[in-house]
Amino acid sequence: MAESKRDYYEVLGVDKNADDATIKKAYRQLAKKYHPDMNPGDAEAEKKFKEASEAYGILSDATKRSQYDQFGHAAFDGAAGGGYGGYSSADFTDIFGDLFGDFFSGFGGGRSRGRSNGPMKGSNVRTSVRMTFEEAVFGCKKEIELTIKDPCPKCNGTGAKPGTEPETCSQCGGKGQVVFTTNSFFGQVRNVQTCPECSGSGKVIKDKCTDCRGTGYVSIRKKYEVEFPAGVDNGQCKRMSGLGEPGQNGGPRGDVLVEAVVSSHPVFQRQDQDIFSTVPMSYAIAALGGEIVIDTVDGPVIYEVKPGTATDTRVRLRGKGVPSLRNKDIRGDHYVTLVVQVPTKLSSEAKNLLKQFDAADMDSLGAVERFRAEKKDGTGDDKDKGKKKKKKFFDL
Ligand SMILES: [Zn+2]
Ligand SMILES: [Zn+2]
Repeated sequence: MAESKRDYYEVLGVDKNADDATIKKAYRQLAKKYHPDMNPGDAEAEKKFKEASEAYGILSDATKRSQYDQFGHAAFDGAAGGGYGGYSSADFTDIFGDLFGDFFSGFGGGRSRGRSNGPMKGSNVRTSVRMTFEEAVFGCKKEIELTIKDPCPKCNGTGAKPGTEPETCSQCGGKGQVVFTTNSFFGQVRNVQTCPECSGSGKVIKDKCTDCRGTGYVSIRKKYEVEFPAGVDNGQCKRMSGLGEPGQNGGPRGDVLVEAVVSSHPVFQRQDQDIFSTVPMSYAIAALGGEIVIDTVDGPVIYEVKPGTATDTRVRLRGKGVPSLRNKDIRGDHYVTLVVQVPTKLSSEAKNLLKQFDAADMDSLGAVERFRAEKKDGTGDDKDKGKKKKKKFFDL
């Protein structure tokens, strides 16, 4: 996302004030020069071709061009919270259809848009929003801001200068498509293409509305409040139907899809509905048992450790996990791994007490000395019973 991109005007080698015809001409030249069919296996040419296509995709669309002029590349990559601006692959096939229809037959395969001038649903707009671990667990409301098209208020969405009307396209008779034959390597091919004159709308605007450059739409920044349910997980999307880009020819608006990006937590890890964490316990607690405090997403809880609990023992706190998306009353569990801490800084008093404790316990501090002494006098292990008990750790 942070990859630095060349300026679109620079890519096409045109001036910032270049008109549509100049932009189209510049792109045609670059596209012909770098088209993959003309440069098989040339990765550099392919890269240049893609770069030029992307630049053209934005600058040839008046709405996107004005977004780009205002916000730069950030208008389309969502990094600045701006969403993807409805920038979809369908837009590309349109460009290719329009541009290559007359000199490459069948380029790009199926074209999903521009084939008819019937009602079409608008593009979906994707964006993402960051939330904390706890916000994902318990649900949250987030505000997002998007750049989305709306019908231009000056021309009421017609694209025509107030006082004028769009006219029926003479080239396609208002159908939005034209049929023509092209010569390819395989002979003559009959092609149905989006009408190049009206871009498939069936209408041409002679006098363009200056506010929207004739597109009928203006981009505006919109704020929405998005409610994420308890239990939402990283990467899941909330769909807000009908809030995306406007449809064409009376089609419904697209949707807004908001992806949840959940920050990692310093203590808790999550796997589906379960939460995992590691909690330290002292040697004394591990040996004697006792109460410890464990942090959960519901706050600290007191847990009773059993006497003689080994390190890395895993305990389960039922119902302290993540709620189910379907029913927030059903929750996963929280698994806690108890890890015995070894003290690294002991006071001399504590050291002495520990030595006394060891002497009373298994005298591990004196074990090697005993081992050496026994080897030296060769008495074997059939001496007195008290020593035999202590020696069991050194049966070599
Ligand atoms: Zn307008
Ligand atoms: Zn037409």
